[in-house]
Amino acid sequence: MTHTGEIKAGQQEMLAVRYRRRYRLCQVLTILGVIFLFALGSFSLVDGAEVLGTILIVNALVGLLNIYLLKRTGNVERAASILSGILFFLSMSLIITGGKNNTGLLWVYPIVAINLFINRFWPAVFWFVIFSVASILLLFTPASLLMMTNYSLVEAIRFILTMLALNAICLAALRSEEQAYQTIMQLHDDDIRKMAYYDTLTGLPNRWSFKTNLERLLSRAEKDKQRIGLLYIDLDNFKQVNDQYGHEAGDRLLLEFSERLWEEIRPTDQLLKPQTESLARLAGDEFVVLLPNIKAPLDASVVATRILNIFDGGFEVDDVTHMIYASIGIAVYPDDACDPSTLLHHADAAMYDAKHNGRNCFKFFTQNIADTLRQRQRIEKGLRQALNDAHFSLVYMPIFDCKDNSIVAIEVLLRCQSPELEGIGPDQFIPVAEATGLIKEIDLWVIENAFQALVVLQKEHDFKGQICINISGVELHNEVFPTQVKHLLEQYSIAPECVELEVTETAFVADDVSGLETLKALDELGVSLALDDFGTGYTAFSQLIHYPADCLKIDRSFVNDLFSEREARNKMVMIIQNLAKLYDLRVIAEGVETEAQMTYLRENGCDWAQGYYLSRPLPWDNLLKLLST
Ligand code: C2E
Ligand code: CA
Ligand code: CA
Repeated sequence: MTHTGEIKAGQQEMLAVRYRRRYRLCQVLTILGVIFLFALGSFSLVDGAEVLGTILIVNALVGLLNIYLLKRTGNVERAASILSGILFFLSMSLIITGGKNNTGLLWVYPIVAINLFINRFWPAVFWFVIFSVASILLLFTPASLLMMTNYSLVEAIRFILTMLALNAICLAALRSEEQAYQTIMQLHDDDIRKMAYYDTLTGLPNRWSFKTNLERLLSRAEKDKQRIGLLYIDLDNFKQVNDQYGHEAGDRLLLEFSERLWEEIRPTDQLLKPQTESLARLAGDEFVVLLPNIKAPLDASVVATRILNIFDGGFEVDDVTHMIYASIGIAVYPDDACDPSTLLHHADAAMYDAKHNGRNCFKFFTQNIADTLRQRQRIEKGLRQALNDAHFSLVYMPIFDCKDNSIVAIEVLLRCQSPELEGIGPDQFIPVAEATGLIKEIDLWVIENAFQALVVLQKEHDFKGQICINISGVELHNEVFPTQVKHLLEQYSIAPECVELEVTETAFVADDVSGLETLKALDELGVSLALDDFGTGYTAFSQLIHYPADCLKIDRSFVNDLFSEREARNKMVMIIQNLAKLYDLRVIAEGVETEAQMTYLRENGCDWAQGYYLSRPLPWDNLLKLLST
């Protein structure tokens, strides 16, 4: 909801509360009034006071009608007016008839007070005037001919004066209640406005107000020909703090950091005049700093260095030293971009560059980053187009048994014919698909098409092996993924043991509970699971026992280095094979390109192998030809 939307909703809620209160008040008072009028009316009729009795009974009937209408239409204003009317007639008739034993005047006081409280201020004033004028006419003018009883002049004056005083007090009370109510509304709006523009944890401007500030600042800078530096800060390892010490500790860390950040940019280098708007928290652990009027882009790096220094020797919160750092991206107006959102985007891209360059450092936005960004945007466009126009296809890479060279499995690999993606392979477009969320749709497309292919291979080509499908690490945190796979297995009546899902080892993070849960759910379906590109990630070998994996795929870089001079690397294949034996896992060697590599793998007990030496990834028709030989 937008901030104005929230304010409106808040006001509406307050109005609704007030409405409900007045509704109840009108309802209860009318019911009481009706009972009272019926009782008094009946007594009067019995006593022979026919005029008064009839007026009271008629009023009671109007009251009943009022209750009915209020219930049906919910129109409180009308109900209040009708009730006021009833009370007006009641009080006039009490004045005229004098009531029982001439005590009618005494009943008029509470009636008039009620009359004022069921109305808003201005309608109450209206009824007050009507009532006063009518009473004065009745008591002091020829209209007094209507009177059925007599009051002395003193009595009449005393009555009018006390009545005016009571009315004045009631009106004043009503007015002040309405004013208090308005103040509450105002405070409420201010609160919501604050929530809409400022981050509740740190009190810093949020993304929304930052964007407005940036727009304003840039248009001023354009007029004054100024340079503005934008620092995009993202904390490294913040997630670990949250996971390990809880969200409260994480919040305290963010608060502490925002204060330190403010101190760092506050010591005004005279040339950088920071204001509170120069700082904002965009999301989670992402902050931005604006440096208005810098002389040269390098000025921004001075501030960036100071910010990085905050983390020298760890960052202490509540006597715990956290090993967190920051990655900072810098973009400068007008050098890197002229409009606010591109400037922010570029600083963000530079921050990513800093993250990929070892973290705990700052990076300026460069032409190189601009090219990468443009390339990514092109790929994203191509992927969307490909999903729309069915420009995806699969190629099939046979996997061989090392012992007898028979084809035991087929890995499906994705290709994209979108014109935008010419010459771009999955190595490049899959990461973009992952970053944009398109990967979920793509993975499902691949699985479904691989299943369709498997059905044909089994039915028409007597294929007995497995189909191996790559899935993105993103799926490990996609709760519905196992169910989707299950439905597809059922839809194509595929035996789960014919399917192997490959997840790259780098997708695994230590202590990633939800990822492990997804893997277990997939394992329970009965499909087999392979750790792809094994050896490139950081899986502590002892962790292997926790993964429900069935297979390790040795990354092709290690097969490539089998006979290299570099000691540690040429031993990796052997190490992984021993490891697999220990944990009872199947081993597939990837990227076998020479006979020598194949011979080595066969002689050293590798189970399966794939690579250009054995077969390249094949289009469907070529795969069928190969299978038939
Ligand atoms: P991967 O799963 O490790 O796939 C093996 C890659 O190595 C394939 O590249 C394959 O063509 C290549 N390769 C196989 N043998 C050799 C060899 O002997 N020499 C050389 N130089 N290369 C070889 P490709 O098809 O470009 O795929 C690259 C990566 O893209 C895959 O690595 C996988 O991580 C990802 N990918 C491919 N298809 C899919 C898919 O359908 N879904 C998902 N999520 N990712 C996919
Ligand atoms: Ca693979
Ligand atoms: Ca691989």
